[in-house]
Amino acid sequence: MAAHQEKKFAQERKHKNIQNDTKASQGQWGRAWEVDWFSLASILFLLMFAPLIVYYFIMSCDQYQCSLTDPLLDLLTGNKHLSDIWNKTPMLTYRAAGIYSLWVTFQVVLYVFIPDFCHKFLPGYVGGVQEGAVTPAGVVNKYQINGLQAWIITHVLWFANASFFHFFSPTIIFDNWIPLLWCANILGYAVSTFAMIKGYFFPTNAKDCKFTGNFFYDYMMGIEFNPRIGKWFDFKLFFNGRPGIVAWTLINLSFAAKQQELYGEVTNSMILVNVLQGLYVLDFFWNEAWYLKTIDICHDHFGWYLGWGDCVWLPYLYTLQGLYLVYHPVQLCTAHAIGILMLGFLGYYIFRMTNHQKDLFRRTNGNCRIWGKKPEYIECSYVSVDGTKYYSKLMTSGFWGWARHFNYTGDLMGSLAYCLACGFEHILPYFYIVYMTILLTHRCIRDEHRCCSKYGKDWKRYTAAVPYRLLPGIF
Ligand code: NDP
Repeated sequence: MAAHQEKKFAQERKHKNIQNDTKASQGQWGRAWEVDWFSLASILFLLMFAPLIVYYFIMSCDQYQCSLTDPLLDLLTGNKHLSDIWNKTPMLTYRAAGIYSLWVTFQVVLYVFIPDFCHKFLPGYVGGVQEGAVTPAGVVNKYQINGLQAWIITHVLWFANASFFHFFSPTIIFDNWIPLLWCANILGYAVSTFAMIKGYFFPTNAKDCKFTGNFFYDYMMGIEFNPRIGKWFDFKLFFNGRPGIVAWTLINLSFAAKQQELYGEVTNSMILVNVLQGLYVLDFFWNEAWYLKTIDICHDHFGWYLGWGDCVWLPYLYTLQGLYLVYHPVQLCTAHAIGILMLGFLGYYIFRMTNHQKDLFRRTNGNCRIWGKKPEYIECSYVSVDGTKYYSKLMTSGFWGWARHFNYTGDLMGSLAYCLACGFEHILPYFYIVYMTILLTHRCIRDEHRCCSKYGKDWKRYTAAVPYRLLPGIF
C-alpha cells in the first residue's frame, strides 16, 4: 500500500520536474526517476544478452579450449548447429543443485546467525554492527558486518577438507562448473523477481522505493533501495559479498587444484592469479564496513543488475583467468611474473590508499592528515526527501586531488595484472580488463551525475578544483 503511494508520489514528482542544475535537488540523488530511450535499450540488451554472454564464455572454454572465435566460425560456416553446441553442454544435475543449495544456505547461516567475533581480537578491523550512509529518504540502516569471519570460516573448512577430511575433491567447483551455472541463474532470477514483488507489495522502506513506470527498468535497476527480511538480512550486503565474493577465492583454488590434477603442477601464472585476486577479496572483507559507503550500497537499488549480477556475472566472469589457465597452463618467465606482481601490487596500493584516504577523511570529518598535511576540501550541502539539510565535504587532497576517481585507476591496474598473467595466446582472459574499463568509466559518469544532483553548485566547484576523472592530465 505504502509502495503504491510512493509510486503515485514518484509520478507527481515526474510532472513537477523539480530537477535544477544549479541547486542541489531534494532527495533526488538515487538512481533515475525517468527512463530515457538509451537506458531502456541498454537494459533490454543486457536482460536478453548478459546470460548468453556468460554462457558463451564458459561454453567456449568447455568445448573450444577458450577460443572465442571458433564457436562463431563453426556456426557461421555451418560446421556446427546451435543444437550441436547445446547438446554437448552439461545440464543441471541433482548433485550441482545439492552443492549450490548447501553453499548458499551455509552462507546465509554465517551471515545471519553468527555475529562478528573478528573485531574483538583483530586490531584495526571494523566489524560487528555498523551504520550505513544516509539514504535519500533520510534513513540510516544498521548492518551486521561479519564478512571476514564468514570468509575465514569457509576457507578454513575448505583447507581442512582438502588436507584432512577429504569429504569432497577440491576440484569439485571446476568439475560441476556448468551445472552450477544453471543453479546460479535460478537463484539470480528468483531473487531479482522476489525483490521486484517485494518492492511493490511489502517494501522494507516505502520512501526509499523508486518506480519509473517502466517494468524492465524497474526489474533491472531495482525498486527497493535496501530490501531486507527481518532486522538483519540485507539483500544488497548479502548478495554483493556472499555467496559471490566468498566463492571467488574458492573458485580460484578449485581451478588451481584442477591444474594440479591434470598436469601434476600448479603454474606460477595460476599462483599469481590466486594471490592477486585473493588479496582483492580479502581487502573487500577486511574493509566491509567501508563498503557500506560505496555506490553499491549508497546509490544502487536492488534489482536484477545486482541480484543476478552477484549470483552469475561476478563468480563466472571475474574468475575467467583461473578457468583459462586450467585449459592453457602458462608458466611465465621470472621477469614477466615479477613485472605482473609489481603491477598488481602497485594497482592494489593505489586502490587501497585512495579508498583509505576518503574513508579516513569522512570518518574524522576532515580532522586527519593526508600525506602529512591537513586535508583541503570543499564544503557542500544536500537535502533529503523530508527536507532535512545535511552538510558534507569533498576532499581535494592526496589522491583525491589528482583525479576524482583515482581508486578506479588503481583497480584497473590490478585488473590488467590478472589478465597479463595469462600470456597473449587468447583474448578470453582479457575480457576482465575490457569489462572493468567499461564498468568503471560508466560508474564515474553515473556517480558524477548523482553527485551533481545531490550537491548542485558545490559539485561544480569541486570539479573545477579537480578537473580529471581517472588519469591526471588526460581524462
Ligand atoms: P567511491 O568509493 O569513489 O565513492 C564515490 C562516492 O564518494 C561519491 O558518490 C561521493 O559520495 C563520495 N566522494 C566522491 N568524491 C569525494 C571526495 N573528493 N571526497 C570525499 N568523498 C567523495 O566509488 P565506488 O563506490 O564506485 O567504488 C568503491 C571501490 O570499489 C572503488 O575502489 C572501485 O574501484 C571498487 N569497485 C570494484 C568493482 C568490481 O567489480 N571489482 C565494482 C565497483 C567498484 P557522497 O554521496 O558520500 O558524497
